[in-house]
Amino acid sequence: MVRVVDLHKSYGGNRVLRGVDLDVARGEVLCLIGASGSGKSTLLRCVNHLEAPDAGFVEVDGELVGYRGHGRQLRALPERRIRHQRAQIGMVFQSFNLFPNLTALDNVVEAPVAVRGLSHRQATAEARDLLAQVGLAGREDSYPRQLSGGQQQRVAIARALAMRPKVMLFDEPTSALDPELVAEVLEAIQRLAQQGMTMLIVTHELGFARAVADRVAFVDDGRIVELGPARSVLDAPRHDRTRSFLSRLA
Ligand code: ATP
Ligand code: MG
Repeated sequence: MVRVVDLHKSYGGNRVLRGVDLDVARGEVLCLIGASGSGKSTLLRCVNHLEAPDAGFVEVDGELVGYRGHGRQLRALPERRIRHQRAQIGMVFQSFNLFPNLTALDNVVEAPVAVRGLSHRQATAEARDLLAQVGLAGREDSYPRQLSGGQQQRVAIARALAMRPKVMLFDEPTSALDPELVAEVLEAIQRLAQQGMTMLIVTHELGFARAVADRVAFVDDGRIVELGPARSVLDAPRHDRTRSFLSRLA
């Protein structure tokens, strides 16, 4: 469902991604772990083309993201096409970025009406279902400031799901939350996994990664140095770099 091929990205002289290859199957949950600055966010941002790679490419569901053509002959898609592609790739960030002047319900309703062209009525019905799915039935009329961080993050997840994405990207979805609010967000993500959503999740929550991930990728200095079933990478890492990273976390 997601294919990353020999992806390179630099900022100035800073080589942040140094040839990343990755295949994520339909319905698979892949967790990305790695030290601060190793390139995890940059990788996710290349997957939905918030960043344009310097070399290599990304495909989602068999379609090149951000470009057309092939090989060295890639040409940038018009911004309108890129927005359309991005709409099919849900992304949830550390900070929730809800519209502060809209209720929880209207935060979720907005994009499907504007982008998918749903009627307001249809979008509202779907939004209610999605809010219920993330455990927020009854909070439809609350404004973001009236919700806890965990509740806001679950609205953000519902809002991303409202676009019926083919894949969901999560960038440290719980690291801005107070510890007691982490579990409710992780549970919402775990339910999505059970429903078969394809997901790439950057997280420092190793217990969560162990529980939810089919595979874990360890990112080190712009490369994936270890990739495998969650239990092998987390509990029996093969590479020294993975071992020392995990022992620093423990
Ligand atoms: P963290 O765990 O702290 O979130 P990360 O693995 O997500 O780290 P990235 O955010 O991908 O790391 O950043 C990798 C490197 O790229 C860092 O050195 C960062 O300073 C640099 N970088 C990221 N975004 C930009 C940008 N827009 N402009 C310049 N440098 C950037
Ligand atoms: Mg990051």
